[in-house]
Amino acid sequence: MKNSKKSVFLEIISKKSSKILYQDNYVTAFRDINPKAPVHILIVSNELIPTLNNIKSRHKNLFSSFFLAAKKIAKKEKISDSGYRIVINCNKDAGQEIYHLHMHLLGGKKLKKI
Ligand code: 5GP
Repeated sequence: MKNSKKSVFLEIISKKSSKILYQDNYVTAFRDINPKAPVHILIVSNELIPTLNNIKSRHKNLFSSFFLAAKKIAKKEKISDSGYRIVINCNKDAGQEIYHLHMHLLGGKKLKKI
C-alpha cells in the first residue's frame, strides 16, 4: 500500500535515534536497513514530502541540504575520492518503497554502470 510505511523514516527522525549519522534543519541521514553497497546511506527530508513530484519552489533550501549532506557524508565515509552515486526513486516504476522523499548515497565498491 502506497503510504503504509510513510512513518518509518519520520519515527527515526522524530525520536532523534542514535542511528542518525547527520542532521540539519532540512534533512536527516542514517544507514539503509538493507544495504546494496558497503556504504548505503539514506538522506531523508525532515518534512514528510511523499515524492519528488511534490516538491515546490519553497523547497530550495532542502535541495541544497540534500547535496551538501551527501558531500559531507561521503567525505566522512571516505568514499569522496573513490566515488559514489546518489539516487532518488520516484513512484512505482522506479521501485519507490517508502513514500517519504529520500536520496540514496551508495559507494564503497565499484558500482554497476547505469
Ligand atoms: P526506496 O525504494 O523507497 O527508494 O528506498 C527505501 C529504502 O528504505 C530501501 O532501500 C529500504 O531498504 C530502506 N528501509 C525500509 N525500511 C527501513 C527502516 O525501517 N530503516 C532503515 N534504516 N531503512 C529502511
